[in-house]
Amino acid sequence: MGMLDGKVAMITGAASGIGRETARRFAKEGAKVAVVSLKSEEERAVSLCAEIAREGGAAVFIPCDVSREEDVRAAVKGTIQKFGRLDIVMANAGINGVWAPIDELMPGEWDRTIAVNLRGTYLAIHCAVPELKRAGGGSIIIVSSVNGTRTFANAGSTAYSVSKAGQVALMKMAALELAASNIRVNAICPGATDTEIGSSTIKRNVETIKVGVHFPHGAPGIRNGQARPADIADVCLFLASDLARHVSGAEIFVDGGFSLAV
Ligand code: NAD
Repeated sequence: MGMLDGKVAMITGAASGIGRETARRFAKEGAKVAVVSLKSEEERAVSLCAEIAREGGAAVFIPCDVSREEDVRAAVKGTIQKFGRLDIVMANAGINGVWAPIDELMPGEWDRTIAVNLRGTYLAIHCAVPELKRAGGGSIIIVSSVNGTRTFANAGSTAYSVSKAGQVALMKMAALELAASNIRVNAICPGATDTEIGSSTIKRNVETIKVGVHFPHGAPGIRNGQARPADIADVCLFLASDLARHVSGAEIFVDGGFSLAV
């Protein structure tokens, strides 16, 4: 018997990295999975769905830009049309965006990071909650970060860090509001994880930002704080499952302890 038998999960940004690994993990445990990601990632997303099907699971790709309300509404609708219900929502899609000194970070660059990471998370919750209520409850997992929640040392990552801090505030507001509907809401805060997020990162002149201190030698934490996507996916599985039935409003750092020291 799987930990998520009979459940339906919607994962945004599931074509790659943490979302992809979690989609595999959830499917292995019996969940049917809506793989929600950008249309430009169709090929990879469809191959993930095929891989899940080969292993006896069920998954469907739904193209969606999470910053667009109509896309997110359609993603929730598509999930219901395909699988009939919704129990687990993982708001994972995100970009690093532009990292730059604050006087060089342009308003449009700020807006894009906030639109994908924060508005996208709000939209996923906003559109999915009626379906979670219809299912009698559920689990919402927000993928935040150690940046903006426990470390502020990545020079120039202001928009990103603010979006990640905002996600945690959103998680806590929603956890309190939705508890009466038996919907749990939690955030995970990964540290450095081996994914493709580098391809959504533009660093400009960050070396000119001087904070006056340098970490002396080495990197702290288990495996120097470096995570594999599976390390994050396992914590998401816990939060999605009944093992976490009394866990709501929590932010869980998954960084091997790295951010305690930086
Ligand atoms: P990734 O780039 O491998 O995956 C992100 C996915 O989101 C991709 O499939 C991408 O196409 C998708 N995406 C981007 N913009 C989108 C949009 N507008 N609409 C729909 N999908 C969109 O990166 P990842 O590391 O797996 O990132 C997943 C989450 O983990 C992000 O929220 C990120 O901030 C967070 N995170 C990552 C790390 C890390 O070191 N990799 C650390 C902390 C937090």
